[in-house]
Amino acid sequence: MKHQTPYYIFNADEFIANYRELEQAFRAIYPSYHIAYSFKTNYTPAVCELVRQLGAYAEVVSDMEYELAKRTGFPDSRILYNGPGKGKMLETCLLQGGHLHVDNHCDTERVLAIARARRELTFKVGVRVNFDMETPLLSRFGLDLDNGDYQKTVELLNAEPNVTVNAIHFHISRARGLDAWERRIVKALEIAKTVFDYPLEYIDIGSGMYGHLDQELQEQFGDTPSYADYASVVARKMAEAYQDMPAEQRPQLITEPGTTLVSKYFHLFTKVLDIKEIRGKYFALLDCSFHNVGEICGLMRVPIHNHGGGEARKAYTGLDLVGYTCLEQDIICHDYPDPIAIGDELEILNVGGYSIVDKPPFIHPDIPIYMQKDGTLVCIKREQTLDDIFAPYYFGTVKL
Ligand SMILES: *Cc1c(COP(=O)(O)O)cnc(C)c1O
Repeated sequence: MKHQTPYYIFNADEFIANYRELEQAFRAIYPSYHIAYSFKTNYTPAVCELVRQLGAYAEVVSDMEYELAKRTGFPDSRILYNGPGKGKMLETCLLQGGHLHVDNHCDTERVLAIARARRELTFKVGVRVNFDMETPLLSRFGLDLDNGDYQKTVELLNAEPNVTVNAIHFHISRARGLDAWERRIVKALEIAKTVFDYPLEYIDIGSGMYGHLDQELQEQFGDTPSYADYASVVARKMAEAYQDMPAEQRPQLITEPGTTLVSKYFHLFTKVLDIKEIRGKYFALLDCSFHNVGEICGLMRVPIHNHGGGEARKAYTGLDLVGYTCLEQDIICHDYPDPIAIGDELEILNVGGYSIVDKPPFIHPDIPIYMQKDGTLVCIKREQTLDDIFAPYYFGTVKL
């Protein structure tokens, strides 16, 4: 690869294999399983188009993402609209047969107002439920089951003659273990049984599975479940719960992976610009920033391969890999252990989640993405320019 650093490589072939492995593991046990791809994790259009062709739903959380789903070819019937920040397209979603998941009282009121204004139509919505998952984090999303808000919302919506609640939805972050997944499917099935006296169309239990991991990450996480392990718990519980129901009436099982599908399949290529010592500590300056690496470098030790290219590599103790921003916190890796030299090209692995979508137009424009597929490399995002960044601003508005 002789492109100018920094740039990303998206490995589409491995991405597709991973997608199919997850889908097949679940479908082998519960055929009515569907993946809803979380756009916000990485909405690179080529990735969205790929998951659309693989048969996924689009999981979106804003009008912008909803429009992007349409533009990347998803019909409304394959779009799930989640989140607390729904814009005007909440109405589009309802009127055009998208899947709307009410998150709060405001969403409920908006659905009721539209239903009252359009009595000639019928509407189906899901409601996001919030319950105690016994995780350290108290989630703010959805409506609380314990204080009765959730049940009241379902009743309120169902009391409207042209509205039906047809789905359960929730998403719990930071709980990736098998036992956490068992608790969530058990809870979902209990809600389906106790709150609803009719069959639901689908049960959507969000994201948060471990995917395949590079060796360096696997060592940090320890033993992690495989897709077959998750399926043997989650898909099996669904299959057992609905075994007496005719197949065509069984609710679909949906999960909403983002990180699981995409993180491992983006790599970042960057160059070492400088190495210096300051009072016994070493800093290797890279031509990318922690924004390009994304969420992972704040959470774990990112896997990095050094492809060399510089002169006379040397191992340092206490060398940090740092980015081009003028922020002290722009540290990509603390205590990088391997030999390194100015001019080396580094490949940072597992950077597909919350990187490209989360990079602000800060100091440098964003970098290109190349897709590796069937032995060829195609550019799927060009380098960002000054014009791209400053297009919304007005120049020449001020005179002293
Ligand atoms: C962010 C989000 C996801 C995806 O989460 P990942 O950790 O990227 O897999 C799925 N569902 C909802 C509702 C989300 O907000």
